[in-house]
Amino acid sequence: MNPFAYSKAANAPAALAQLAAVAGRASAADADPGAEAKLLAGGTNLLDLMKVNLVRCHRLVDINGLPLDAIEALPDGGFRLGALARNADTAYHPAVREGLPLLSSAILAGASPQIRNMATNGGNLLQRTRCHYFYDALTPCNKREPGTGCPAREGLARQHAILGSSEHCVAVHPSDMCVALAALGAVVRVRSTRGARDIAFADFHRLPEDRPEQDTTLAPDELIEHIAIAPLRQYAAHSVYLKLRERQSYAFALVSVAAALDLGPDGRIRGARLALGGVAHKPWRDIGAEALLQGQPPQTAVFERAAEAVLQGAVPRGRGVGSNAFKIPMARRAIVRALQTAARGTVPNTGRNLA
Ligand SMILES: Cc1cc2nc3c(=O)[nH]c(=O)nc-3n(C[C@H](O)[C@H](O)[C@H](O)COP(=O)(O)OP(=O)(O)OC[C@H]3O[C@@H](n4cnc5c(N)ncnc54)[C@H](O)[C@@H]3O)c2cc1C
Repeated sequence: MNPFAYSKAANAPAALAQLAAVAGRASAADADPGAEAKLLAGGTNLLDLMKVNLVRCHRLVDINGLPLDAIEALPDGGFRLGALARNADTAYHPAVREGLPLLSSAILAGASPQIRNMATNGGNLLQRTRCHYFYDALTPCNKREPGTGCPAREGLARQHAILGSSEHCVAVHPSDMCVALAALGAVVRVRSTRGARDIAFADFHRLPEDRPEQDTTLAPDELIEHIAIAPLRQYAAHSVYLKLRERQSYAFALVSVAAALDLGPDGRIRGARLALGGVAHKPWRDIGAEALLQGQPPQTAVFERAAEAVLQGAVPRGRGVGSNAFKIPMARRAIVRALQTAARGTVPNTGRNLA
C-alpha cells in the first residue's frame, strides 16, 4: 500500500503553490523520489498508473474545481481549449466540429465514450505510453527506471516506434488528440509560480534520446491552463483523421494520420498539414512533407511522394513475428489514403462513432 494525501485545490495559485513546494523539495539532497505531488484531472491515466505502482506520490491535488474548462471559439476564428474541458465536450462542441473537424474526429477515435466523458484536454497531453515493457515491473525499462535498459528494442515491437526512437527507448506516444493538435500547430499555455509561458506543440512532447523518462518539456511545477489554436478555417473542408489499429474499437493506434488540405480555386494545394500517431515517442508532424504538397495538384502520385518523404528515416524494430517492419508500408499507405480522403472532402462527424 502507498498512502497518499488528497486535497482539492481551491484556486490556481493554491495548486501552483503545492507543486512549487514539492519541486523545491525534489531538488533537495534528501529528496524522496516518491515525495511528489500530482495533479488529478480526469484520473483515467493517473489512477491506473498509481494502482500498478508506476506512479507514486505523496499528494494528489485535485484540480477539477479550477475554472479551466472553457471551450472558446475566438472572434478571429482561433480556439482556446481549457485544460479541464472534457475530451467529449471538446469533440462535440458545435464550433469545434465545424471549425476543427480534424480535432473532433481525432478525439472521437480514442478510448470509449465513458473515458472521453472523464478525460480532460490537459490530461490527454500528459498520458503515458502504452508500451507493455513500461507496464511490466519485472522487465527493465529506461522510461520507468532510467539506466536499466530497453528490452523492447529487440523484443515484441509490434506497437513500437519506427521514427525518432533511440537506443534507450522505442515507446510511442499513445494519444489521438495530440496528433491532430500537432498537425494544427497548437500552442500550450502553462503556468507556475514563476509566471506563464507558451510551448509550441512541436516542442511540448520530446523524442526519447537519452532521457526517455521525460515525455514532455513541462516542468514538474507547471500547470497546463489551455491549448490555443490559431485560425485555420481554410482546412475545415478537407481534413481527416485516419486511425489503424488491431481492432476497430477501444484500441490504441498502430498508425494514425491527421491530414488537412487547403485547396485553392484552381484545385491546387495551397497549404497542407500532416502528422502521424503511433509511430514515434511524440506526435510526428512533418513540415517538410507538407511543403512538398504545397502548390501541387491533389493527386495520388503527389501524395505518394509526401509519404516517402515522411518515412525516409523510418527504422523497423524487433524480429520475426515481433517485428514492426509492417508499420512502414502501413504508414505509407495510410498517409496516401488520408490525403486522398481529405482531398475529396471532410467526412462530416456524425458523433455516432462510439469508440
Ligand atoms: C482503457 C483506455 C483506453 C484508452 N484509449 C485511448 C485511445 O485510443 N486514444 C487516446 O488518445 N487516449 C486513450 N486513452 C487515454 C485517455 O485519453 C487518457 O487517459 C486521458 O486523456 C487522460 O486525461 P485525464 O484528464 O484523465 O488525465 P489524468 O489521468 O487525471 O492525468 C494524466 C496526467 O496529466 C497530469 N495533468 C492532468 N491535467 C493537468 C494539467 N492541467 N496541468 C498539468 N498536469 C496535468 C496529471 O498529473 C497526470 O500526470 C485511453 C485510456 C484508457 C483508460
